[in-house]
Amino acid sequence: FEQLPLPYRYESLEPVIDAKTMEIHYTKHAAAYSTNLKDAVKAEGVSDKSSVEDILGKISKFSPKMRNNGGGHYNHELFWQCMKSNGEGTPTGKLLTDIETQFNSFGNFKSLFTDAAKNRFGSGWAWLYMDGQKKLHIGSTPNQDNPLMDISEIKGIPLLGLDVWEHAYYLKYQNKRADYID
Ligand code: MN
Repeated sequence: FEQLPLPYRYESLEPVIDAKTMEIHYTKHAAAYSTNLKDAVKAEGVSDKSSVEDILGKISKFSPKMRNNGGGHYNHELFWQCMKSNGEGTPTGKLLTDIETQFNSFGNFKSLFTDAAKNRFGSGWAWLYMDGQKKLHIGSTPNQDNPLMDISEIKGIPLLGLDVWEHAYYLKYQNKRADYID
């Protein structure tokens, strides 16, 4: 339930994501999800040996606080790992093969993923996720929901997540969400 250290410096993703946004996002927004998740775990009698994934899989049995902060914590921990300095490029190996099988080409995958992010109304996330048959899908969820949640319309294991909350881009991109997504 704890935040892991950010795997790069706040300025490492410049000029795509600015250092100030990263610092506030990591130390304020994401930190609060972790803190509030720990509160909810204590208040709702969840064993501290449970994993976030265990909780999300039966999130309908818990409070909105657990849903919002458990999702928020999981999503951000994945999000930081999905990015790196000068990361622009193409995946390799089985991931690339599966993306090409499912979406025809990596370029087409990028276009479909971008559309999922741009078409999410309000706050939420775009996902590349894998179902129980290990088939890849693209989708989006509102707020801090994700495909691990039993209440989610899309279900599977998240592989890549893009945060489209305004706090993820507003300092640099203001109302231009599409530019941030691109
Ligand atoms: Mn966020």
